[in-house]
Amino acid sequence: MDQYGDCSFCGGDVVLRNVELDYRHKDKLYVFQNVPAGICRQCGEKYLTAHVAKKIEHTIHTKQNWNKIKVPMTTFEPMEVVAKS
Ligand SMILES: [Zn+2]
Repeated sequence: MDQYGDCSFCGGDVVLRNVELDYRHKDKLYVFQNVPAGICRQCGEKYLTAHVAKKIEHTIHTKQNWNKIKVPMTTFEPMEVVAKS
């Protein structure tokens, strides 16, 4: 069953894989493992079915006991505008 079709960015083959997915919701970053998603074999773009996207939203709103991991984070110093050459 091919439910993903071709990649809308590059036209490549999109194949079903179970992947790790980073998902931002409000100011939090959630990590979902073993998510069934379509992955473009050429450019790596991820595609979620409406069902999976809904399940992710539902989980974010209802799940209580999340595993917490530490994520490295940094902030760039404000950069001067690069001088024209
Ligand atoms: Zn692609």
